[in-house]
Amino acid sequence: MTITQDVTTHDLFIDGVWTPPASGRTSERHSPGDGRLVGRYAKGDASDVDRAVAAARQAFDEGPWPTLAAPKRAAIMRRAADLLRERADEIGRGITLELGKPISMARNEVVLTAEVLDYYAALALDQRSDLISRHTDSALGLVLKEPLGVVGMITPWNFPLLLLSWKVAPALAAGCTMVAKPASLTPGSTLALADVLTEAGVPPGVYNVVTGGGGEVGAALAEHPGVDKIAFTGSTEVGQTVMRSAIGTVKKVSMELGGKSPNIVFADADLDQAVRGAYWGIFLNSGQACQAGSRLLVQREVHEEFVARLADLARSSRIGDPLDEKTQIGPLIDQSQLDTVLDYIAQGLSGGASLVAGGDRLDGDLAGGYFVAPTIFDNVSPSAAIAREEIFGPVLAVTPFDTAADAVRLANDSPYGLAAAVWSSNIDTALTTAKRLRAGTVWINAYHDAGLPFCMPMGGYKASGIGRELGREGLEHYLETKAVHLRLAR
Ligand code: NAD
Repeated sequence: MTITQDVTTHDLFIDGVWTPPASGRTSERHSPGDGRLVGRYAKGDASDVDRAVAAARQAFDEGPWPTLAAPKRAAIMRRAADLLRERADEIGRGITLELGKPISMARNEVVLTAEVLDYYAALALDQRSDLISRHTDSALGLVLKEPLGVVGMITPWNFPLLLLSWKVAPALAAGCTMVAKPASLTPGSTLALADVLTEAGVPPGVYNVVTGGGGEVGAALAEHPGVDKIAFTGSTEVGQTVMRSAIGTVKKVSMELGGKSPNIVFADADLDQAVRGAYWGIFLNSGQACQAGSRLLVQREVHEEFVARLADLARSSRIGDPLDEKTQIGPLIDQSQLDTVLDYIAQGLSGGASLVAGGDRLDGDLAGGYFVAPTIFDNVSPSAAIAREEIFGPVLAVTPFDTAADAVRLANDSPYGLAAAVWSSNIDTALTTAKRLRAGTVWINAYHDAGLPFCMPMGGYKASGIGRELGREGLEHYLETKAVHLRLAR
């Protein structure tokens, strides 16, 4: 392990001030690519959460943020977006060091985060309330939208800044204040955002960060009586725990949880595009993406050819040093994720599926990191663990199907419902299938990206979540609705 100039020690960010944790403890983060030490972070506890919530509460109750004129809030948000773009190289590098995400994608994550801030700055300018009339001379009603209050934000490590921005940007636009608790493996960009927002003009107490363990800091936030809402992204299992913690004070919750998303390829699809889509669908971010297309359903007429082409592509992946601009696939996040992925690969092998690509940890130059070759299992039984459980790694389960009805039945046979994709050159087949899928996002002839901005809502059916982030729907979660009944003089 090498100690490099990249190592910094970070305090908590409370009420606009960098402040040490009450316990005085820190934790270290090592790069998953080569084991080097990349950061030291304050280990917060419940008393730090108390201080951060008190600051957010005061900033909400006494202002000025919740009552600041929308054009002023929007201007500050746009300024923050510009600052993020200016610092994209530096913040992206930090994400790569902590997470192992290839540098080109980490930098892009920062740029996309800036776009999210710009989008919600525009929505801040367009918040309206309704006037209701029942065609009577004696009464009118006002339906007012107001900022919801203090929001606790608990985020995962796989897109540490972008997924945070899906909460921070609408919360700022609505006039809320917040306490963010990043994943303990990747706190750097959440802390960097504190500097960016402060420089842009966000007042003290509006955005606070408490780093530390989920069971300690996350649980304290979810239980805290001073928090009005919890916005959570993470696994379904931890999401359930957070919901239980939030019950005591009847907090609002929004939950972006796990997935096992089906990617359906019909025989009449453009196979060149579909092969590339299936590849990035599962292997983006080493399969550590909630919407990963981890179940590939291919119509039998083209199944054999499709799998052969996909396996060729998987074998030609550029895997390696995540700081290298040319790298497409980096390491997994840590030893525990590596163990989980290797265990699922072993289950795939013993369960009778055919391994057609990958299947092993990479050694040689990459032995010092948690690298697993892009792995494809073919002819996987729909009841196998690798076809049912979220692996969160570069492991694809392929199952052939015969008819569109079979594809929909297989696709919907899951406790999850986060995302799906349909590849077909027939618009009727594509749209009919898309309508029958029980998933919050469905791509047609694309996976992960159809070039759309952040105006499209995202979230899960079934055990994949509650509520939607992004789009106008994403703003609603940070607003309360008040009905004002107005009696008119007769
Ligand atoms: P995780 O559930 O382990 O952790 C998420 C966050 O919860 C972390 O900040 C963690 O510290 C915190 N936490 C842990 N225990 C807690 C507790 N008892 N109380 C409160 N907070 C607690 O998830 P992860 O491993 O960081 O991320 C991977 C998971 O996230 C996958 O299941 C993935 O599908 C999901 N995810 C979902 C989306 C989505 O938008 N639906 C996006 C990204 C990731």
